[in-house]
Amino acid sequence: MAKHKVLDRFYNSDKWKTFRLGLINERGNKCSRCKQTIAISKEIIGHHKIELTPENVHDHNISLNPDLVDLVCFDCHNILHNRFGYKAEKKVYLVYGPPLAGKQAFVKRHVQRGDIIIDMDRLYSAVSMQPEYDKPDNLLMNVRGIYNQLLDNIKVRHGKWYNAWIIGGYADKYKREKVINDLGAEPIFLDVSKEECLQRLAVDEERQYRQDEWQGYIEKWFEHYVE
Ligand SMILES: [Zn+2]
Ligand SMILES: [Zn+2]
Repeated sequence: MAKHKVLDRFYNSDKWKTFRLGLINERGNKCSRCKQTIAISKEIIGHHKIELTPENVHDHNISLNPDLVDLVCFDCHNILHNRFGYKAEKKVYLVYGPPLAGKQAFVKRHVQRGDIIIDMDRLYSAVSMQPEYDKPDNLLMNVRGIYNQLLDNIKVRHGKWYNAWIIGGYADKYKREKVINDLGAEPIFLDVSKEECLQRLAVDEERQYRQDEWQGYIEKWFEHYVE
């Protein structure tokens, strides 16, 4: 039973049942994760890579899209959902690079529902109610406190999140390597040149009245960056 009736209705619908059988015919009765043969076809689970919600279930580009549905066995399905003590390994990513490199956009493309995102800009916005490009200096200590608390959570794998995404500039090699080592994070560097960042800033509507402030951040990042 799903948490929402509208999801139950979807999984009981002929559309879904036919779609799932079509996938089994096409792909065979193997679990796509552990490659085990699943003898009883009823036990083949169609797992949605983008978790279905009451909002997206009616969008057939999501709920009935073969590219977004994996056929898996019962055990693998529980691992994928971290259910009943079945634990998938939690992955931690450090997404870093200069201001306007597109770090948030990158994470947005890869995040799944249930992941945790640790991003100074968003935390700032959460406690200040200001837009993300406007960070009142006087709140820095409090925001940093939340940020560090969350990093500590990630370090000891506290909580039920799936993957963690840490977003930051991390021009400083020492700080960057400390996070990578302390948290067991996989680094993802968005390698965008200074010229490109400045060009993006020039056409960025949100920051149009803060060009010099952000130009300063970009220049500072490239001054401090050590590969
Ligand atoms: Zn399996
Ligand atoms: Zn699933």
